[in-house]
Amino acid sequence: MAEQTKASVETGKIKAMLDRRKGKMKLLLSHCAHCSICAESCFLYTAHHGDPQYMPSYKAIFSLGRLYKKRGRVDRGFLEEIKGIVWRNCVLCRRCYCPIGIDIPSMIAFARSICRSQGVYPDFEEPEHRESWL
Ligand code: SF4
Ligand code: SF4
Repeated sequence: MAEQTKASVETGKIKAMLDRRKGKMKLLLSHCAHCSICAESCFLYTAHHGDPQYMPSYKAIFSLGRLYKKRGRVDRGFLEEIKGIVWRNCVLCRRCYCPIGIDIPSMIAFARSICRSQGVYPDFEEPEHRESWL
């Protein structure tokens, strides 16, 4: 694992993964009305007393959305940063409802896949990855 942490990120591979799901990401980035309806159905959002970091739309936009805007040109530090958003702050329960059909859990799951493709994933023994929902 120490080897993987130091390794550079395969930006071409990330871009290829992103390109395969362009349509869904455009829907998220262009059509999200920031109405917060999805937030009301997320138990982590309510459990954290409305902390905006737990809004489903925030979690997707600040992980996958940023990856997409950067066209995958990110470094390992960036993936480590979004790791907390896509694992600790979401359990993929699929309860969040969006009236315009943005599928937030699938976006977060996809961000996880991209992180995993580069050897970035949480160690659930680390306290910071348990604090949110365990
Ligand atoms: S419900 Fe849909 S449109 Fe509204 S903030 Fe959530 S993702 Fe965006
Ligand atoms: S899938 Fe994630 S964002 Fe959606 S309700 Fe569940 S914990 Fe919240």
